[in-house]
Amino acid sequence: MMSRIEDGCIKCGTCQNACPVFRIENYPYFQGPRRIAVEAPRFSRELTSLSDSPHMCTSCALCESVCPSRLPITEAVLKMRTHYGIESEGGRRMISNINQYGRTIAPTSKFTSPVSGSTLFFPGCIGDARVPSAVQGAVDMLIALGDQVYIPNEWYCCGSPLEKIGAKSEVDRLQEMNSAILGTAERIVTACPGCTFQLQKNSNVDVLHVLEHLFEVITPSRLRWRSTNPINVALHSPCHLVRSVGPHTMDYAREILGSIAGVRVIDMDDEGCCGGGGGVTSTFPEMALKMARLRVESAIRAGAHMILAPCPFCVVNLRRVGDLEVKDLTAFLTELSLCR
Ligand code: SF4
Ligand code: SF4
Repeated sequence: MMSRIEDGCIKCGTCQNACPVFRIENYPYFQGPRRIAVEAPRFSRELTSLSDSPHMCTSCALCESVCPSRLPITEAVLKMRTHYGIESEGGRRMISNINQYGRTIAPTSKFTSPVSGSTLFFPGCIGDARVPSAVQGAVDMLIALGDQVYIPNEWYCCGSPLEKIGAKSEVDRLQEMNSAILGTAERIVTACPGCTFQLQKNSNVDVLHVLEHLFEVITPSRLRWRSTNPINVALHSPCHLVRSVGPHTMDYAREILGSIAGVRVIDMDDEGCCGGGGGVTSTFPEMALKMARLRVESAIRAGAHMILAPCPFCVVNLRRVGDLEVKDLTAFLTELSLCR
């Protein structure tokens, strides 16, 4: 993989210009995707000068989405993380929780759900601990729509956050722990883009984000919504949903929202990463907050009354700003669903 990076880079600098972390002022120590992923391995430089940089990456994949040589930059940055190991307090806390609970955050929620069926709803660590309304809401809505959905009694972290901080051995261990639990479902659905992509890589069954499940399996004709008082919503595009699961998911989100009377989706003038991914909310919380503030300010400028995000990580980080209401898209849809 590294040889492709080394051979293919034409030093155009497009990735540096696109990188949302590199563009943030006051973080001069982040050296950008080209330096981290391409130049350091190419010239075998002394890497200690870069030691913080890989851990500042939000794994948004904007860099590789614009790279004319289509180089796998994000993967190379994550390899650098593995090289440096778990440096941060946040990373060590995640590992400690994995050892104790099998999840990156201590379990907190008790969901009301069947424990068997055909569609396994995977709550994910952050959904369980920080945005349980998105999980419970999705399950309630799907049950009302006649879906045989269930949450298993036991489940473990999908491994995505551990992969992002470079803890490869933990990822393998979690995959093994989850295999018997997840392998019995006909289909796995989750509200978290990180869980969706991670489970897609490691599962033999279909794994869908809840937006895909609503649109492709339930089908739009069966979705009915009550109207709401006029509201302008800014729809945030989560990096891991758009660039890992696929851009079609945001088309689904826009089409569903467009069918709800009273809801007006408005465009933000600066689409981009909220700073909530790649473990940076734990390792560099001030930087993550600064990135979230840029998104919230863009939504306010556009006249939004609320931000909707189909990702619990984005919801948690955007809420830290506090200047505008932020909701998980699934929880918002559940409130307006006539299928309950
Ligand atoms: S994945 Fe995103 S944050 Fe990381 S180097 Fe690429 S553009 Fe920058
Ligand atoms: S965009 Fe791709 S080719 Fe251009 S500098 Fe970055 S890694 Fe190299």
